[in-house]
Amino acid sequence: MNRESKPANAEAGQMIFLQPEFKQMIWGGSRLRTEWNYEIPGDDTGECWAVSAHPNGDCIVSTGSHKGKRLSQMWADAPELFDNVNEEGGLLEEKFPLLTKIIDAKDDLSIQVHPDDAYAKVHENGSLGKTECWYILDCPEDGALVLGHHASTREEMQEMIDQGRWDDFLQEVPIQKGDFIQIDPGTLHAIKGGIMLLETQQNSDITYRVYDYGRLSNGKPRQLHIEQSIAVTRVPAAPVEECVFHTAAGEKNKMQVLIENPYYQVSRMEVEGTVNWMQTEGFRIVSVLEGSGQVNGTAVKKGDHFILPAGFGEVEAQGEMTLFMSTPGRRK
Ligand code: ZN
Repeated sequence: MNRESKPANAEAGQMIFLQPEFKQMIWGGSRLRTEWNYEIPGDDTGECWAVSAHPNGDCIVSTGSHKGKRLSQMWADAPELFDNVNEEGGLLEEKFPLLTKIIDAKDDLSIQVHPDDAYAKVHENGSLGKTECWYILDCPEDGALVLGHHASTREEMQEMIDQGRWDDFLQEVPIQKGDFIQIDPGTLHAIKGGIMLLETQQNSDITYRVYDYGRLSNGKPRQLHIEQSIAVTRVPAAPVEECVFHTAAGEKNKMQVLIENPYYQVSRMEVEGTVNWMQTEGFRIVSVLEGSGQVNGTAVKKGDHFILPAGFGEVEAQGEMTLFMSTPGRRK
C-alpha cells in the first residue's frame, strides 16, 4: 500500500489488528488453544500478549499501511494515530503505555510484587513501575488468589519470609468469574492454578519474585528478589475491599467503567443487537472476550484484539459479544 496516497485521517478510520505474542511458562497450559483458538507454541503456554509494544513481546501489526511493523515502531512512526503529539511536534509519551494479556494458569504463579514508577526509575534503569488489573475470565468453583499479606510491620514480613511461614504470611482471597481486581504497585499477589484472566497493565515487565514454592525451571530454582520485595511491598496490606470488585453483568449496550486511575481506564460492554458510540480517546484497545459480531462492518470474534485509533469517530458494534476495553490514563 502506498503511504503517501493515504492521508492520516483515512487511516484514523481503520481498526488496527495485531498478531499476539505467546509466552511459555512453567505454570502455563493449553487453554489458549483449546478455548481461544490461538496457535500456541506448546502445552505450557501461559501468556498471550495480545496488545503489546514491550521489547520482550512486541506485537506485529497485521492490518493497514503499517502492516508488518512492530507496534513500538508504529507508535514512533504514526503518533497522530495515538494522539501522542506534544505542542512541539514531538512524542507526548516515548513508550506505548499499556499492555493487554490473557493468562492461562494451569499451575500456581509465583508470589510477586511490582514497584511503582518512582522506585523503578531509580532502581530499574528508568523503567516504568507496574500497576495492573485483572478481569477473571474463568476460575474453579473454589477459586482464590493470593492478594496481600498478614504482616503488620516490615520486620514481621522479613521474619515470616526468613522462617518460610508462607501460610501465616500470605492472604488468600476467594474469587469468581467476572470479578475485577486492581493491583497497585506494592501489592503482593499470585494467580492460582485453574484461573484464566485478562490483564491490563502499564507497559512494564518488572517483577520481584518473593516465593516460587521451591519449584525448578530447567533444573534450577527461578531467581527470587526478597530484598526488593520487602522494600516495595505495602505494609500493612491494603484492605481487600479496595482491590476486589464483584462486577455483576452490566446493562446491555452500556459502557461499564470498571476502574479509572492515572494509568488506565478499563471498561466492559455487553453488546446485543446494535450499539453506537464515539471514539474520542487518544486510542482504545478492544478485546472480544465472548461471542462474535461486527465492528464498523469488520467481522470480529472471541479472541480478537484491536486498537481504535485517535479520531476513529463513530463506532458501531453489532452482534452478541462481550467487549473489554482500555484507554490510557490522563497524560497531563
Ligand atoms: Zn503482577
